[in-house]
Amino acid sequence: MNDIINSILEKNKDSAKEGDYVKDDILYCGKCNQPKQCIKEFPIGSGTMRNFPIICKCDIDEEEKYKERMRRQKWDEYVKQLYRQGLTDKAYLKNTFENDDNRNPGITYFCKKYVESWQKQKEHNNGVLFYGGTGGGKSFYACCIANALLKKGVKVFVSRLSDLVKNQTKNDTTDVNLNLFDLIILDDLGIEKATQTAYNIIDDIYRSDIPLIVTTNLMPTELKNPDSIEKERIYSRVIEMCCIVQKVDVKVSRFQIAKSKNKQALQDLNI
Ligand SMILES: [Zn+2]
Repeated sequence: MNDIINSILEKNKDSAKEGDYVKDDILYCGKCNQPKQCIKEFPIGSGTMRNFPIICKCDIDEEEKYKERMRRQKWDEYVKQLYRQGLTDKAYLKNTFENDDNRNPGITYFCKKYVESWQKQKEHNNGVLFYGGTGGGKSFYACCIANALLKKGVKVFVSRLSDLVKNQTKNDTTDVNLNLFDLIILDDLGIEKATQTAYNIIDDIYRSDIPLIVTTNLMPTELKNPDSIEKERIYSRVIEMCCIVQKVDVKVSRFQIAKSKNKQALQDLNI
């Protein structure tokens, strides 16, 4: 009997694992107790019976785990690529909900709601304007949204408008095609010169129906009544795109929603 067992194990040494055993001349899995072999006549008509390997439950489970690992690996690579394309400044990476010091619970709550309801925000093209003085965390909160959505596989692009203008003016070959993104975040609006290039970038975003999030030190009144026609052309587009207006300050935070989209935006946020 031992000879038979040994010969079966030898013949199937690739599929036999520690703990496997032989019963009725067939190899069984020591883990799930399912047969790892079947006996068939081969060649047909020869009268010779041979053992052929078959798969047990563990093999199926292992295959599924392997496939899942591959899926996960592919997904991680995809997200890494999104990060490379979307975050122009590595400093933005640190701005995540995990690193939030909860200095502004109202804004955190809003940002999380925006991420949660992303599909609706995208569908209705609901942009956000974060304004307020330095130190309140406007860029931080905007990037919290960016990082959370990037992790979900959303194509987010974060940059300063001034940097985009610089790249376009240089005719940089690494120039980005903003139309490829699902959400655009322009950090620190107002530090750029109100050039034709700056206007063209804003106008492209406006025409592409991609939601826009803007952070700025400028007050809404300054955005609405700038000191030049060039600025007005840019800011009026921005105001139109950012229907949700958030004041982010060191101490106070509140948000309001522009009247034109009031009901829809509130409904989308589920607040
Ligand atoms: Zn098994």
